Amino acid sequence: MNGTTDQTRHQDRVWSVAEHLDDVLSKIGPLDPIELQLLDAQGCVLVEDITVPVALPPFDNSSMDGYAVRAADVADATESTPAVLTVIGDVAAGSGELPGTGPGQAVRIMTGAPVPPGADAVVPVEWTDGGTGQGPAATMRAHSAAPQDAGGEVRVHRPAAAGAHIRARGSDVTEGEPALQAGTVLGPSQIGLLAAIGRGTVRVHPRPRVVVLSTGSELVQPGEALGPGQIHDSNSFQLTAAARDAGAIAYRVGAVADDAETLRSTLEDQLIRADILVTSGGVSVGAYDVVKETLAALSAEEGTVEFRRLAMQPGKPQGFGLIGPDRIPLLALPGNPVSSYVSFELFVRPAIRALMGLPEVHRPTTPAKCTEAVASSPKGKRQFLRGSYDTEAGTVTPVGGAGSHLIKAMAHANALIIVPEDTTEVPAGAEVDIVLLG
Ligand code: AMP
Ligand code: MG
Repeated sequence: MNGTTDQTRHQDRVWSVAEHLDDVLSKIGPLDPIELQLLDAQGCVLVEDITVPVALPPFDNSSMDGYAVRAADVADATESTPAVLTVIGDVAAGSGELPGTGPGQAVRIMTGAPVPPGADAVVPVEWTDGGTGQGPAATMRAHSAAPQDAGGEVRVHRPAAAGAHIRARGSDVTEGEPALQAGTVLGPSQIGLLAAIGRGTVRVHPRPRVVVLSTGSELVQPGEALGPGQIHDSNSFQLTAAARDAGAIAYRVGAVADDAETLRSTLEDQLIRADILVTSGGVSVGAYDVVKETLAALSAEEGTVEFRRLAMQPGKPQGFGLIGPDRIPLLALPGNPVSSYVSFELFVRPAIRALMGLPEVHRPTTPAKCTEAVASSPKGKRQFLRGSYDTEAGTVTPVGGAGSHLIKAMAHANALIIVPEDTTEVPAGAEVDIVLLG
C-alpha cells in the first residue's frame, strides 16, 4: 500500500478529543435489559421500579435477648423490689408457635424472635436475674441456646415501657412502599434490600462483553521466551484488566499476527460473543498497519470503521465503527502501550459504561497543583501526561516523560495530567486538571 492511499484513508480533518468521544457515545446506548440473579446484577443499573411486597420487619420482633412481658407487670419493678414473673416458655428466632403471655407471665425470647401475643415489651436479660436461680450462673444459662424449663421464675429489676425493645412490623418499610427506583446502581446495600424483600432476580442492563485483541507479529505471550525483535504482549492484558475495572465481562483474545486474513477471521469468530470489540495496534500509517487496512476496507454489509487523527497526545490515530450483522461497536486503539491505555480510559471506558446504562460514564477530574514544570507540550494537541496525585496535598507530580512506550511510569501513576490544546508549557506550581484513575 502506498503513501497516497494511506493519506486518503485518513479523514482530512483532525478530530478533537471531545468530538471523537461524542461520536462514540452518540452511537452507543444501554444494552437490552435482562433478568439476572441478585449477585450477578451487582454493579448493574436497575431498569424497573421495585415495590415492597411485604412489610419489613414482617412481624413484631425482639431486638434483644431477654423476656417478653406485659409492661404493666414490670411498671413498678426496682432493684430491691423486682417484679417476679412466671416463665411459661421460650421463643427463638424462627419460632412459629408462640405461647400467649398472660398477666404475671413472661416468655424467654431471643433477638429476632416474634413477640408472643399478650406481651407488649421486652426486658433485656441484663435487667433480670436471668431466670429462676439468682446470680451470674443463671444469667449465663439464659443466654444459652438450651430451652428453659417452663414454670421457672424470672425477677425483673427495671420497668420497661410498652414497645420497649420491640422492632415493630413495618418499622423498616411498609407494604407497597417504593424500595428502589429504575436507574439505581446496585451496590451491596441495594442487593441486601432486594434480598430482604424476597426478590431473587431483578431486571437490569447487563454488563457488556468486551473482546480485547492485540495485533502485532512481534508479540509473544508473557511467560514465553522472546526471540529476536519480539516483545511481550502487554496491551491485551492491560486492556482486559481495564475493561473489567470499568465493569465489563472481558475476554482477552491475545495477539493476532499482522496478517489481514487472520485478523478478519478472528474478528468474525469473536463477534458472536462481543457487545464491544477493542483492538490495539496497527492503526497508524506503517506498512503493516493491518487493522486499519482491514477494517477501513469492510464492505457495506460488514460495517464501517473510520480511522481518524485526533488532536491528542498520546493516542493520535484512532479507529471507531460498527461492524458485523449486529453492528457491534469496535474501537481500534494505537499500539503503543501508553497510547492504548490512555485511549481506553478516554473512549472505551465511557463506552462500556454507556452500554451498562450507568449515569456517570466518565472518570472524575479534579484541579491539582503541578509540582514540576512541564516544558514543550505540543501546540494544538491535548496532552495526557502520567501523574502521581497526592490527595492530601492536592498536588500532582509528572511520572516518566511523554514517551508512549513508558510502561513502568504508567504503572506508577494514579492520574492523567491534562495539558490543554493551547497550552505549551506549565510552570511549576500552576494548577492543572487531572483525571483520577482510581
Ligand atoms: P503499532 O501501533 O502496531 O504500530 O504499534 C506501536 C508500538 O507499540 C510498537 O512499538 C509495538 O511493538 C508496540 N505494541 C503494539 N502492540 C503491543 C502490545 N500488544 N503490547 C506491547 N506493545 C505493543
Ligand atoms: Mg503493530
